[in-house]
Amino acid sequence: MPYIREIVEDGHPTLRKVAKKVDPKEILDPLFQQLIDDMFETMYDAPGVGLAAPQVGVSKRLFVMDIQDDDHPPAVMINPKIELAEEEVEMTEGCLSVPGKVGEITRFRRFGLSGLDRNGEKIRIEGEDLLAQCLQHELDHLNGVLYIDNARNIRPAATEEEREIAQAASAEAS
Ligand code: ZN
Repeated sequence: MPYIREIVEDGHPTLRKVAKKVDPKEILDPLFQQLIDDMFETMYDAPGVGLAAPQVGVSKRLFVMDIQDDDHPPAVMINPKIELAEEEVEMTEGCLSVPGKVGEITRFRRFGLSGLDRNGEKIRIEGEDLLAQCLQHELDHLNGVLYIDNARNIRPAATEEEREIAQAASAEAS
């Protein structure tokens, strides 16, 4: 049974480490599969649209995401590599590990990653806007980077829309 893990917050050392590459042989291990299930459970409980392993204190290169869009089903990305990065835009962003805050950050509007899925099969995920933003945000977590490192005008979420972004760690192009 999946369980909800604690989401660590800014100041926790694991958030600042470059996460370790996952050995593909490890992916089918029941403990690794449990980690994936727990990460989904934790993300949906938060709620959020993405969650990286360092956010539950595990320094490994994987994240889960679900942007709640019919064209993009829930996904697991392991050992991601950048395949596409186009058109810089300004976006409003939040993070479950920096609760209650939002800021403006420059992101690529179109972005794509390749890697492995939870069966160890090769996958590629690419898209625009929220999907692209989520991929970049989660990839940053695997490199020890938080959005607040590069964002401007970091502030407590004040409006309804900002609270949604801060809580769901989702975002909209602005
Ligand atoms: Zn985050």
